[in-house]
Amino acid sequence: MTTNTIAVGPLSAQPGTKVTGLVPVDVGTTTLEVPVAIVHGARPGPRVAVTGGIHGAEYVSIAALREVVFSLDPSAVTGSLVAVLTASPAAFAARSIYVNPLDGLNLNRQFPGDPNGSPTQRLAHWLATEVIEGSDAFVDMHCGDMNEALDSFVGILDTGNPSVDARSRELAEAYGLRHLLISKTTGTTLAVAGAHGIPGVLGEVGGQGLWPKDDVALHAAGFRRVLRAAGLIEDAPAEPGHRTELLPDEAWMRATTTGYWHPAVGVGDRIEAGMEVGEVQDAFGNVLERPSAPMAGVVIFLVSSLAMNAGDPLLALAG
Ligand SMILES: [Zn+2]
Repeated sequence: MTTNTIAVGPLSAQPGTKVTGLVPVDVGTTTLEVPVAIVHGARPGPRVAVTGGIHGAEYVSIAALREVVFSLDPSAVTGSLVAVLTASPAAFAARSIYVNPLDGLNLNRQFPGDPNGSPTQRLAHWLATEVIEGSDAFVDMHCGDMNEALDSFVGILDTGNPSVDARSRELAEAYGLRHLLISKTTGTTLAVAGAHGIPGVLGEVGGQGLWPKDDVALHAAGFRRVLRAAGLIEDAPAEPGHRTELLPDEAWMRATTTGYWHPAVGVGDRIEAGMEVGEVQDAFGNVLERPSAPMAGVVIFLVSSLAMNAGDPLLALAG
């Protein structure tokens, strides 16, 4: 093996090659086979890591990542891309919403993970140490889950390191999506990247278990522009005609009752503080709650299933 080989588990890629394969990841109760692609460019340069399918039913992100990785020609790449094509294979197979069925945990709340923990914690540890930490830039591709409609956005962290944060912002703007949010969520892939001084961006397009061509194309084009901004490729689709709007504050609204969710707003709507966003009814049409917006903002995602459980998200606002 030469020193400039890039390896993930048993996969290793020489410069100028693309290598794909299933990488075994022992998560304690079973061994997952995680599909990974290494695109090792012909010229040395930055190493970018990307994950798709951290949430297994977010199909636009998985489909877009597959499309871009399958099309990349290593002879036209500077640096390298390490792509985890479906990061939570058991969740993908089970068409699972939010959580990994192996232990019921949300993978994107378990980082940096634990090599001796539950299956999701072990998977998080593997992704953190084998994929994210060795990179110069990191992209995490998501979309609304099977029960969520979503207005496209990118998310970055405020790590407190101005040069890292400025670089994350550049990559996020290259994505060309509608909104930019500053993520406050802990236990995420972005938190791992941030803790290691790695610029990171989360991209979100589409949802509801669908993967229409237009959404996949939008997500794929954004990711290609990020790869161009990171220095890996020279050609990428033109920037969209709109600028990315920074929405620095966000609020997640959660149900306090279990029943039937009737939203009164749609994704992308701009609503005022105090406005009623819908109602949860019981089985007989009686209103259990009519939650109102805690802040003015844009409806970033909206749970679109009729079934609602106390404690589940109803929607998120950003503004
Ligand atoms: Zn997600």
